[in-house]
Amino acid sequence: MTERTFSIIKPDATRRNLTGKINAVIEDAGLRIVAQRRIRMSKAQAEKFYEVHKERPFYGELVDFMTSAPVVVQVLEGPNAVAKYREVMGATNPAQAADGTIRKLYAESVGENSVHGSDSLENAGIEIAQFFKDDEIVG
Ligand code: GDP
Repeated sequence: MTERTFSIIKPDATRRNLTGKINAVIEDAGLRIVAQRRIRMSKAQAEKFYEVHKERPFYGELVDFMTSAPVVVQVLEGPNAVAKYREVMGATNPAQAADGTIRKLYAESVGENSVHGSDSLENAGIEIAQFFKDDEIVG
């Protein structure tokens, strides 16, 4: 089934000029970038986006990190895009990520791990709506 998922190229990656290299991995995997914008995430946006992790010990650190430099927010489209992108991203901790995945190739640590991808179709819809209007997504 054709799906859409939400992606963020995180500050550790934009800082190292890795946007193009990460987009190449995404496109080589058969996912189409149907919307993309470079933004500086506000503290309020980051806090809301990661609200599910509010009680975790790394929440403050995560919000600080996500607002520390620009990010690139994206909508990716393709067959089984949600699961496909999770596969392309690799495990949260780059030390456990499979060869060829974005996190294996580029992530610096479990926190500064280069990319975000939605973990379910339902969350993908919620996350996309947080950052994009329908007419900004051109499939
Ligand atoms: P994901 O779905 O693979 O991104 O992983 P999670 O939903 O478990 O965590 C969300 C994000 O929180 C991760 O991508 C990391 O950026 C951050 N994170 C997760 N675990 C840790 C941790 O132990 N320390 C720090 N500093 N950040 C973490």
